[in-house]
Amino acid sequence: MFFIPQKFWDQKSETISLQGLKELQCRRLQKLVKYVYTTNTFYQKKLLDAKVKPESIKTLKDIEKLPFLTKQDLRAYYPFGLVCTPLDDIIEVHASSGTTGKPVVGPYTKNDVELWAEMMARSLFANGLRKNDILQNAYGYGFFTGAHGFEKGAQKIGAMVITIGSGNTERQVDIMKDFGSTTLACTPSYSLHIAEVAEEKGFNTSTDFKLRLGAFGAEAWSEEMRKNIEKRWGIIAHEHYGLTELIGPGIVSECEYNKLHINADHFYPELIDPKTEEVLEFGDEGELVYTTLTKEAFPAIRFRTKDLASITEETCACGRTLPIQSRIKGRSDDMMKIKGVIVFPSQIEAALMQVPGISDNYQIVKTKQGAIYSLSVEVEPSENRYKEGHLDDFEKKAENEIYRILNLHIPVHSIPPKTIPRSTGKAKRVIER
Ligand SMILES: [Zn+2]
Repeated sequence: MFFIPQKFWDQKSETISLQGLKELQCRRLQKLVKYVYTTNTFYQKKLLDAKVKPESIKTLKDIEKLPFLTKQDLRAYYPFGLVCTPLDDIIEVHASSGTTGKPVVGPYTKNDVELWAEMMARSLFANGLRKNDILQNAYGYGFFTGAHGFEKGAQKIGAMVITIGSGNTERQVDIMKDFGSTTLACTPSYSLHIAEVAEEKGFNTSTDFKLRLGAFGAEAWSEEMRKNIEKRWGIIAHEHYGLTELIGPGIVSECEYNKLHINADHFYPELIDPKTEEVLEFGDEGELVYTTLTKEAFPAIRFRTKDLASITEETCACGRTLPIQSRIKGRSDDMMKIKGVIVFPSQIEAALMQVPGISDNYQIVKTKQGAIYSLSVEVEPSENRYKEGHLDDFEKKAENEIYRILNLHIPVHSIPPKTIPRSTGKAKRVIER
């Protein structure tokens, strides 16, 4: 008898026909609009203002009649104004950092928590996580969604979760070695900091550990950075995408072909022009807008993510039919306009990673003179490259790589290794002086 390994976590949902998916999305959308209309006065008013009633939703395209939901709406109804169930039914609450005003609150019913675990299990299984894996969960535990989502999904698969959280990096290295962690879950930049500390402790990161898989997310990182991480640790690194406003991680993740499949049976994606709010075709690049089709406590309808990407419906070699999202080019908030050229931090990162002797640590410095911003980049060469000297050659190479990608001259300054503050969560890549 042959043993055929399980290829999908939920084959029926992950290989549904495109037509079947659209019918399912439409049924769920109709139910959702009726649900929010009858349970939440804010949503009811919002729909009435837009002259929409539940019966107005006849086809999927009718979603375009519905108004957008923004972060400002969420703040205005802080903390529980958008909840559509009795508060008694909520069993878990998360929140995103409130760097600009009140935090964004994510409440969950029992079914929402179950949906989250299921979406994360589907995502991690697509990455290659299995029951016999040991996942070192180095996302920050606490109010953030990240660590909790990875824990729920990995446990649903039956993997062992090391609930270490972020920080205490020397201990991360010891635990990784002693427990034989096979999977590391954290921000991509933190995985590199852990590698740096492991090397300082005398380890060879690509051979001294059992690590084989990385489940990374919560910050924008370039393909070049992915290659660096994979080489440094000797692992396969996968991207996760999600937002507290929608459920946390679990919305989009990668199959073995590095295609970012959207769990579109529960999260309906649209693309819009961020300026005109016009709905775009999937092949175009635009701002991602998501509708949670099946959440109970806090359903988000047409939430504007501010993240720029494109979507395709091509079939993937992995067999999944779920639509594919491109890597996030950047948040529309992070977009900078320098001498008329649109610049994203991820493009500068991609350019820098081409320079021999570079470390993974850099920061983009924005300087404001009057109403005009100028940019410069500070990078740490590797220890060896730094000792070699002739750093003006190194800087020139970096400037040329940036020019090749952006057609823009941005000065690069090399600074001594280990000068830029390391982060155990999201790295701060752009600073203002
Ligand atoms: Zn695929």
